Amino acid sequence: MKGIKHLFGIAGMSREQINYLIDLGDSFTEVNRRSIKKAPTLRGKTIINLFFENSTRTRTSFEIAGKRLSGDVINISASTSATSKGETLLDTARTLAAMQPHVLVIRHSLAGTCEFLAEHLENCAIVNAGDGAHEHPTQILTDLLTLKQPWGSPEGKVITMVGDIAHSRVARSHLLAAKIMGYQMRIVAPKTLLPSQVERYGCEVFHDFDEALPGSDAIYMLRVQTERLTDNCCFPSIREYHEAYGLNMKRLKSAGSDCLVMHPGPMNRGVEITSDVADSVQSRVLAQVDMGVAVRMAVLAALCGGGDEA
Ligand code: ASP
Repeated sequence: MKGIKHLFGIAGMSREQINYLIDLGDSFTEVNRRSIKKAPTLRGKTIINLFFENSTRTRTSFEIAGKRLSGDVINISASTSATSKGETLLDTARTLAAMQPHVLVIRHSLAGTCEFLAEHLENCAIVNAGDGAHEHPTQILTDLLTLKQPWGSPEGKVITMVGDIAHSRVARSHLLAAKIMGYQMRIVAPKTLLPSQVERYGCEVFHDFDEALPGSDAIYMLRVQTERLTDNCCFPSIREYHEAYGLNMKRLKSAGSDCLVMHPGPMNRGVEITSDVADSVQSRVLAQVDMGVAVRMAVLAALCGGGDEA
């Protein structure tokens, strides 16, 4: 893909590059609808998924994406890698790179892991599958592809994002993407779950969920990132959090029947979202999962030089 050797984050990407990946992902949705889901784009290419944090959707979708495009996909998780025997991350990555893969897909709890490794590994492309609270670029491409079908372009639309903005890489990547793609982000969170100076991203900030609902084109719910909280003082109790920041049917109705509901998963039903909302016709949660495979096919194909052919 023109101008992109690695995919570290939304930061630094252009609107053209983002649209290129979304459109390429869109073209791959057709492969995912076939009874025999196979295309030759990544034949002879090796993709290693190296995951140091838990993942269901992202890891599986990268694996399925690589396999549907005929690539050879290897999965390594933290518990089975040699880092659990004391090897450094860099040595593990260098060891894998010495086996000549074309792409290393990495998830790690430390922000900047992918950029750091790319400085030391020359022979493979690196994809950020989530680095701490920093960025999660393929999730945002997934969301924009999900919204392409109902909206066409996201330009001028309003996405209201609710929950743990401070520790969410999905939030950060969306705030960056909103500026590039021209959509408006409304951020709703208690002060304890807001990053400092969040307004610098050009978003609107609300502490009262109900005030942010009118005019929202999509409501994007986030999980509280308990694995990144250093203490439990962010909100008084789950019940109170749910009352103030949970999306229930009453709130969804006041946003309107055209308003879409999104969540990157995993959902905590009864905390940030009620079951009736999660399973409602306005929910795009499973469409996001579906589009996640197509977008990861696009990213792998583009980084392996097969995007234009595809
Ligand atoms: N799956 C998303 C992520 O990896 C969101 C979450 O875990 O809450 O960041």
